[in-house]
Amino acid sequence: MLLEVENIAVHYGKIAALKGVSLQVDSGEIVALIGANGAGKTTTLKTISGLRPLTAGRISFDGKDISRMPGHRRVVVGIGQAPEGRGIFPGMSVQENLLMGSYARKRFNKEAELAEVYELFPRLAERKTQAGGTMSGGEQQMLAIGRALMAKPKVLLLDEPSMGLAPILVNQIFSIISEINRRGTTVLLVEQNATQALQLADRAYVLETGRVVKSAPAHDLLSDPEVQAAYLGGDLDTEVGADGP
Ligand code: ATP
Repeated sequence: MLLEVENIAVHYGKIAALKGVSLQVDSGEIVALIGANGAGKTTTLKTISGLRPLTAGRISFDGKDISRMPGHRRVVVGIGQAPEGRGIFPGMSVQENLLMGSYARKRFNKEAELAEVYELFPRLAERKTQAGGTMSGGEQQMLAIGRALMAKPKVLLLDEPSMGLAPILVNQIFSIISEINRRGTTVLLVEQNATQALQLADRAYVLETGRVVKSAPAHDLLSDPEVQAAYLGGDLDTEVGADGP
């Protein structure tokens, strides 16, 4: 098992955002985490990457307990994250942003890493010198993923990579994630776009208000009537959004 999350609880002040979440990710898998707004998906990823402390439970990575390891060490042991909202450095060029991703890794060939990221994302190669902050939303998403890859992670944590993107770019991002996985990186993916996430993933977990309520092979969840009713009504979501308060 590459990553094992055992019964973790996480609080924001007195509010319990996670109430005992367990999940496992095997080497080579794509695992999706789906659920409604506020279910705790982002918190789960942030706790795995060390940005939030856990109040109970345990996280193991590559056989070691990392529950109390600082976030910058987790990057070094192989946990990479492309955060929700991207978090790129707006005043730095695309290439400088990418190089920031590898700062923690002293002993490897940055040129080779850059070449691989530019091969995955030709758009970034065309725009090496452009300021990160002037890139489009989709380009910034690619940059955030590329930057995470620069640390050569064993597992890549992706938080809503399709958020805010036009449908054609959503397809592109999903096919790039599949290619990243094919090249050997394990992926843990948080997505609101549940249909596409389940089509891409090997397995998935469904989170509801801080708890895992289902876990199964992704294809089984695609045909699960409860999951369909709650999460796969893509067109309904749009209508609710348009008519909502
Ligand atoms: P979304 O899809 O809307 O991003 P999510 O499933 O990623 O949702 P989280 O962002 O993990 O959910 O939030 C889980 C719960 O923790 C929510 O109830 C949220 O309001 C709460 N929460 C998240 N961040 C904070 C914070 N900084 N302070 C207080 N409460 C927070």
